[in-house]
Amino acid sequence: GKVLVTGANGYIAAWVVRTLLEKGYSVRGTVRSEQKGLHLKKIFASYKEKFETVVVEDITKEGAFDEAVKGVDAIEHTASPFHFKADDPKELITPAVNGTISVLKSALSIPSVRRIVVTSSVASILEDLPAPKVFSESDWNEQAIIAVNTEGNKASPANKYRASKTLAEKAAWEVYNANKGKISWDLVTLCPPMVYGPGIHDVSSPSALGTSAADWYNSVVRPNSGGKPIQAITSVAFGYVDVRDIAMAHALALQKEDAGGERLIIINKEFVFQDFIDIANSLSPSPIPSHTDLPKGSPGAGKGFQPMVTYDRTKTSKIFPELKYHTMEETTKDTLEDLSARVGS
Ligand code: NDP
Repeated sequence: GKVLVTGANGYIAAWVVRTLLEKGYSVRGTVRSEQKGLHLKKIFASYKEKFETVVVEDITKEGAFDEAVKGVDAIEHTASPFHFKADDPKELITPAVNGTISVLKSALSIPSVRRIVVTSSVASILEDLPAPKVFSESDWNEQAIIAVNTEGNKASPANKYRASKTLAEKAAWEVYNANKGKISWDLVTLCPPMVYGPGIHDVSSPSALGTSAADWYNSVVRPNSGGKPIQAITSVAFGYVDVRDIAMAHALALQKEDAGGERLIIINKEFVFQDFIDIANSLSPSPIPSHTDLPKGSPGAGKGFQPMVTYDRTKTSKIFPELKYHTMEETTKDTLEDLSARVGS
């Protein structure tokens, strides 16, 4: 089959493309300019005509994907901004929401499309609460939407991004629910937490790393954890998944009949950065030459830390029983090797 991957030059998407090609799919990747497709053409050259790029300059325009969706069997929609630099929340919300609606609408009249996978996020699930909570796929982050509606530009950077992901995923389910019965495809949304691990997209300097990879680099590799207070690396907990595992989940999401109509949390572990720091310092031989310069933080301080936000894995392990996760050691080693080879350390 042929799969359309939007935002194909992104950190996660490049691994999605590679995983699909390795599984025998043909892939058409959308990029915003010819230039942004060149690196992919290089790394996937051996797949010849099984990989192509198409330019979709502005994903927010109605009909933007009308040409790109023609003749594909499935779509993986990953293109969406992920950064904390927006002043106006609309900078994130407009491309996230309109891009999602646009690609789904373009696919409404394409009978070859059997499934659409939207890369959502736990950002559309979790809320900051005063007590610990185990979040599941039935939770929606209303808090971030309320924050941007009431606070506008003054909303926190996290809430601006989280609102963009929540509103985009809600829009995807609305388009699907309004049309199901009349269309040939069903919808799957994947909700990963922070995504870490080696990159294969076009990154030649640390400043070009995406938001999640840059945070990992700043926390684990840069001296004094990039200036983060010790408290921020020992007690601020997130969940993470390796980029190769979320890419595999995107492939499984196309293959598993039972995934149709489902929202799925894809997470390996809850963590604090001290956990990665301890592993990075324990690797022998060190994957990076400047081993002795790695921050130490407060060794062992992550052990036993109770995160406020944890996730229910029941549904995902039932639908994707074969999804195996890279260990924290593997992710750490491979990321350090990659950083050292690609951007220096
Ligand atoms: P990247 O920034 O590496 O890739 C984002 C992709 O989306 C790029 O192709 C980018 O194109 C495209 N894009 C961004 N903004 C726009 C826009 N306004 N119009 C058109 N295209 C746009 O991000 P990731 O790979 O990290 O993220 C991919 C997806 O995964 C996103 O939907 C993100 O929300 C989601 N996600 C990421 C997580 C993470 O930790 N990395 C965690 C959870 C979810 P260009 O290069 O031209 O800017």
